Amino acid sequence: MVKKILVLPGDGIGQEIVAEAVKVIDCLQADFGLDVEMEHALVGGTAYDDSGSPLPQSTLDLARAADALLLGAVGGYKWESLDIAVRPEKGLLGLRAELELFANLRPAILYPQLADASTLRSEVVSGLDIMIVRELTGGIYFGQPRGVRTLDNGEKQGYNTLVYSESEIRRIGKVAFDIAAKRDSRVCSVDKANVLECTELWREVMTEEAKAHPDIELSHMYVDNAAMQLVRAPKQFDVMVTTNMFGDILSDCAAMLTGSIGMLPSASLDANSKGMYEPIHGSAPDIAGQNIANPLATILSVAMMLRYTLDEPAMAERIEKAVNSVLDQKLRTADIHSEGCRKVSTSEMGDAVVAAMR
Ligand code: NAD
Repeated sequence: MVKKILVLPGDGIGQEIVAEAVKVIDCLQADFGLDVEMEHALVGGTAYDDSGSPLPQSTLDLARAADALLLGAVGGYKWESLDIAVRPEKGLLGLRAELELFANLRPAILYPQLADASTLRSEVVSGLDIMIVRELTGGIYFGQPRGVRTLDNGEKQGYNTLVYSESEIRRIGKVAFDIAAKRDSRVCSVDKANVLECTELWREVMTEEAKAHPDIELSHMYVDNAAMQLVRAPKQFDVMVTTNMFGDILSDCAAMLTGSIGMLPSASLDANSKGMYEPIHGSAPDIAGQNIANPLATILSVAMMLRYTLDEPAMAERIEKAVNSVLDQKLRTADIHSEGCRKVSTSEMGDAVVAAMR
C-alpha cells in the first residue's frame, strides 16, 4: 500500500528547509521509484494564526492517518506572549503525546569535512557517529505525584517522581537493540543504578532484554561517567539508550560535539515504527525568510524516515551520500561556512543535494 507522509513545515525557517526536503522526496519519487503520497498541514504559530490552535483537529487527524511526519520547526517571537496552552511548542508536544512517540532517536554525526566546526579537537570528534535513543514519554517529566507543596513548618517544597514500568523500559531497550543491529551492534545503557532504585530496575530489564538480542554487546554506564566520556572520548559509543531526562541532557551534549546545529536530524517513533522526523534545531526566527538557513538537518531527517519507517535503506544511503558529496564539493550554508568554501543559499544547497542524488 502506498505510504503517506504528512508534511508540517511549521514556523520560521521551517517553511524554507522543509521545501528543500520535499525536493529530495520529489526526486526519489520521480527518479528512484519511491511510492509515497505527501499531504501538507499547519502546526505551531502558523496554525494558531489560521485557526486559534497550534494543533488543529484537522492536522491531528491527518497525522494519525499518516505513516510518517516530516516537521520543520515551530515557534517564534510573534507568539512568545501567548498563553502557554496555545503556544506553538504545544503543537509539537501534542503530536508527540497523541501519537505515543516514545522513542527519540538523535544521531550525532560529525562529517569529517566539518571537523573544524566542533569546539573539541578534530582528532577527538572527526568521524563521530553516535545514536542516542532517549525514552520520550515517561520518566520524571511525566511521573506523578508532582508539584510544589507547603510543609508544616511553612517552607515550600518542590517534588517530582521518577517512575518507569518494566514494559516501558523493555520497549525502549528493544528499539535500541534493533537499531544497534543495523549499526556496530553495541548498546550502552545509561542509568544511575547506584543511587536510584528506578534505574536499578532499568539496568535489570535492559540486561534481561539483551538476552533476546544475542548479537548485540550490552554495556552499562552511570550517567555522570557517560557525560564525562562523551566529551573525553565520544567515538567509543555506538548506540546509547537512556531515560527521558538523562537523554535530554546527553543528546544536547552529543549534538554540540559536532558543532553544527543545522546538520543534525532526529526521529521520534511509536511502537509500530511510525515516526515524526525533524531537525533538532528550532525555527531560527533571527534568520527566517532570508534563504540562508541550512536545510541539511531536515534533508537528513528524510533519510532517517526512509530507514526507520519506510524501510528503504538504499534510498536513505543515497541521500546521505549526496550530503557527503555536497560537503566534498565545499558547498556551505552560512552556519557551516569556512574559508576556502563556497557560500550557498538554502535553495542552492537543496538543489545541490538533489543533483548529487542523481
Ligand atoms: P534555534 O535552534 O531556532 O536557533 C538557535 C541558533 O541557531 C540561531 O542563531 C539560529 O539562527 C541558528 N540556527 C538554527 N537552525 C539553523 C539552521 N538550520 N541553519 C542555520 N542556522 C540555524 O533555537 P532558539 O533560537 O532557541 O529558538 C527559536 C524558536 O524555535 C523558539 O520559539 C523555540 O521555542 C523554537 N524551538 C523549536 C524547536 C522545534 O520545533 N523542535 C526546537 C527548539 C526551539
